[in-house]
Amino acid sequence: MDERARIYFMSQDIQSLQKQFGKNLILNENLSKYSWFNLGGPAEIFFRPDNKEQLINFLIEVKKRNLSKKIIGAGSNTLIRDQGVKGTIIKLSSKFSFIKLLTNDTLEVGAATLDKKISDFALENSIGNLEFLSCIPGSIGGSIMMNSGCYGTDISEILISIKVLDDMGREKEIKKNEIKFFYRGTSIPENYIILSAVLKGKISIKEEVRKKQEKLIKTKEETQPRRIKTGGSTFKNSINKKAWELIKESGCDKLNIGDAKISEKHCNFFINNGNAKTADIEELINKVKEQVHSKTGVALELEIKIIGDEI
Ligand SMILES: Cc1cc2nc3c(=O)[nH]c(=O)nc-3n(C[C@H](O)[C@H](O)[C@H](O)COP(=O)(O)OP(=O)(O)OC[C@H]3O[C@@H](n4cnc5c(N)ncnc54)[C@H](O)[C@@H]3O)c2cc1C
Repeated sequence: MDERARIYFMSQDIQSLQKQFGKNLILNENLSKYSWFNLGGPAEIFFRPDNKEQLINFLIEVKKRNLSKKIIGAGSNTLIRDQGVKGTIIKLSSKFSFIKLLTNDTLEVGAATLDKKISDFALENSIGNLEFLSCIPGSIGGSIMMNSGCYGTDISEILISIKVLDDMGREKEIKKNEIKFFYRGTSIPENYIILSAVLKGKISIKEEVRKKQEKLIKTKEETQPRRIKTGGSTFKNSINKKAWELIKESGCDKLNIGDAKISEKHCNFFINNGNAKTADIEELINKVKEQVHSKTGVALELEIKIIGDEI
């Protein structure tokens, strides 16, 4: 659909969508508050479902209209462009945040549940192996898509299965052995929406789980910056070297574009130091990529996801 036709169609159609979805659908919602960078323009249509049925109905309407759609979780790995996002952004409401104990060592969690909450719940129930989740500031839905991890563990090691909706709103269960996991990614199609997941830990002694969780949190605090506007690690580590080592070696660690800066504590963390725009962060990313490539020959790959329209 060309741009004028799209805008005309949207304005005609929007009222019926709003009627159908009421307060759960917001037009031109500013997305900066949904990203850890605290950056980004508006979403044409922002949808926050309260339950699965509502989400299914919305997906059917989106499909009918051939609108683009993207889901965000806690926004801790996502940089949103200044121009915002055409089409729809979906963010699961807090109703998708829940934790159920299925057996002594197995949990069912809603996709919007924060990783830290899951780790704390596991601790309370003396379940080990989920301590690393306390160091990841995302939701479990985003973390599964990213195969997030730290300190030698990642999601693939604790996942049993997920429930998803496809583009048509059809629900499927996907078992772990049907998913390929790689470093900070999976084979789960990007258009799927994860609704919930089953995770398995290991029955343990509560005090040991507590000690491990505390140790990981302490290590994280000592090595990575806190309370800053960032998306965590900007680039993936390369096969032979960590991304931060390549950035430092190439003399990029002190670069900045206005208020788009690089953390002094961890030079793979890029920061909005107050008044940066997404365009500044992207320019800094590109500058670092070029300089690292020309000095070391390594082509850094982005770990963070960038969404929205380019200028
Ligand atoms: C300070 C800081 C420290 C961090 N430390 C780590 C670390 O140690 N290890 C690590 O791996 N990462 C780390 N990260 C990155 C980030 O926290 C993880 O990638 C996290 O798992 C992303 O989850 P999210 O909910 O914020 O995802 P988002 O950033 O919202 O989204 C990430 C991706 O997941 C998709 N997605 C989100 N929810 C769903 C869903 N329900 N269904 C389908 N797709 C979905 C999005 O479309 C997007 O492609 C860090 C980030 C910060 C800011």
